Amino acid sequence: MTEEPCQCSDCQRFYKEHDRLIREFPTFKQQQELNWASIQSFRSLCNKVIDELQRQLSERESNEEMSSEENHISDREIAEALDELESVNSYLYSIEALMERIFDTKISNKIEFKFKEIAKELAPDPLNMDRLILNRLFHQTPDSPDKKNIN
Ligand SMILES: [Zn+2]
Repeated sequence: MTEEPCQCSDCQRFYKEHDRLIREFPTFKQQQELNWASIQSFRSLCNKVIDELQRQLSERESNEEMSSEENHISDREIAEALDELESVNSYLYSIEALMERIFDTKISNKIEFKFKEIAKELAPDPLNMDRLILNRLFHQTPDSPDKKNIN
């Protein structure tokens, strides 16, 4: 017997996204590119925010009187966020180094075909016609023998 996967809304969102990424990027090469781009975009964004927070901190040090509206993130909050973001950034940097190695791997078209095949099994299109018809038939069956047990 397999264990039932968690069905909370966070997990469901994750399953959906997980399957979408397989469906929309079903080849090895596409997964390489997707994951590379996602790490890079995460890093770019973190870096930019870190720069901005550092700039804000140093401006405050040189210029004590600031308008209160611009001052609504406290220095302490900024310092804490900087600590956290800098360690996230160093993790991302390590992941990037590993991704570079994954990026070096090339596979043949025949194996790519296998990837596409398996992707379809792993994450079938929920809007696929056959599946929709099958679902409708299943739900319309008035007295399926198992119905009492399923409930
Ligand atoms: Zn969950």
